[in-house]
Amino acid sequence: MRKRLIVSAASALSLFLAVPASASDFQPGAAGVGDSYYPTYGNGGYNVSHYDIRLKYQPATDELEGTTTILATATQDLSRFNLDFALNVAEVRVNGRPAAFTTSGEQELEVTPARPLAKGSQATVVVRYKGVPSTVKKYGFTAWLRTPDGAVAAGEPESAWWWFPSNDHPSDKATFDVSVLVPDGNQVISNGILTGTSSQAGWTRYSWRENKPQATYLATLAVGKFDVTTDTTPGGLPVYNAYSKDLGDNADAARASVERTGELVDWLSGYFGDYPFSSVGGYVPNVPTGFALETQTRVFYSPRQFSRGANTSVVVHELAHQWYGDSVSLSRWSDIWLNEGFARYSQFLWSEHENEGTAQELADYVYASHPADDAFWTVKPGDPGADNQFSGAVYDRGAVAIQALRNTVGDEAFFRILKGWPTERRYGNATIPEFQAYAEKVSGKKLGDLFTTWLFTAAKPATGPVAPGAAAAASLAPGAGQTDGQLPAEPKSWKKIQETNSLHDAGH
Ligand SMILES: [Zn+2]
Repeated sequence: MRKRLIVSAASALSLFLAVPASASDFQPGAAGVGDSYYPTYGNGGYNVSHYDIRLKYQPATDELEGTTTILATATQDLSRFNLDFALNVAEVRVNGRPAAFTTSGEQELEVTPARPLAKGSQATVVVRYKGVPSTVKKYGFTAWLRTPDGAVAAGEPESAWWWFPSNDHPSDKATFDVSVLVPDGNQVISNGILTGTSSQAGWTRYSWRENKPQATYLATLAVGKFDVTTDTTPGGLPVYNAYSKDLGDNADAARASVERTGELVDWLSGYFGDYPFSSVGGYVPNVPTGFALETQTRVFYSPRQFSRGANTSVVVHELAHQWYGDSVSLSRWSDIWLNEGFARYSQFLWSEHENEGTAQELADYVYASHPADDAFWTVKPGDPGADNQFSGAVYDRGAVAIQALRNTVGDEAFFRILKGWPTERRYGNATIPEFQAYAEKVSGKKLGDLFTTWLFTAAKPATGPVAPGAAAAASLAPGAGQTDGQLPAEPKSWKKIQETNSLHDAGH
């Protein structure tokens, strides 16, 4: 009797251990990826490798119907996981089986698969949905922009929620296929290469493919009537640009800027290394907003960027992001300087190239034009806070910080860093401390004090970005090394650079 009991207990125990994992080991994935600036953005417990977004869109009514298929890998034993999404969901399937789902918070879609997902397993998630995106407000706004002839999805950090469900955080990048059915006579613009079009029964399907990892906020979509130009750069890179047919007085200035994309991407390659993607271009839809956005391979420009004439400086800024932001992406939003500091600095380099003011002159001008008690200096570019993520200081002080780095390590090491970083970290994610470690490795210099002073201190640095040799002859180098000197002359490029300052003001 006693023996039997022991045997039974042992059998029960071994049976228990033979189960791969008990149900209690499977936990829900977190509702956010853990970003301190945006606690609910992205999700925990899985990584996405691919989005297949298949839509039908009616411009007349803004009605959008979609099926998005997500290929993901569980990074923990998952009983449930979240997606970020704003439209009405009709059905979710996980690995072919209907899944239970509900919504919570502003943009959380909670999915409970019929069978839990073991850590390391692959999941195919299919979400069917529809809605009128322009009417769906989250946190009081919609990033879905209506135009007279269609609509545009572009915004940072939020834009995906209104057209596809996702793990909406730049730390989880994926490849994309975007295929959209629109009434004949309309066109669809998205990222990457247009792989095909087909028409049937009054509707035309446009299929786009981005075959390199892309952050969700860098996915873009536009439906409307466009004049399209295509070309290849001297290096053989396909160029695809599109302009709304109703840009009016801004049409020529937009073309005079965006048509130089091929030339400018080649020029930037000299500083940043080989262009990381398989196509390039921009589009200018007739939206009422003022910003531009570095949507991957296909930059979004508001017509207002060209309302004072052509602006190649904004094109340089957005193309610089293809390396700094798109290919090498943020691990967390607090490191936005890695995007905006370098995109602004590329405008300084373009100014220098155009003989409209050197990078040093621009840095001196920024330093001198903000007195010590200016609120400008209270923003730390290296950790500006969510509310100041896109404030002018992240761009301008951020670029001055890069000039200070250049002066500290010298031109030879500086330009090796500028090109080596996006080459070494291509298609990945990164943080400011990782960049600092890289710059220290390349230059052989300790840079902690420099980064603290320029990126992480809420005060005006005691001295400006001193040019080599300028300290000894400060009186001969206006601005350099001064605390409150006379304001140097405004560099010729300054106004065009400042016109790009509403870049990421998504209008909310
Ligand atoms: Zn930017």
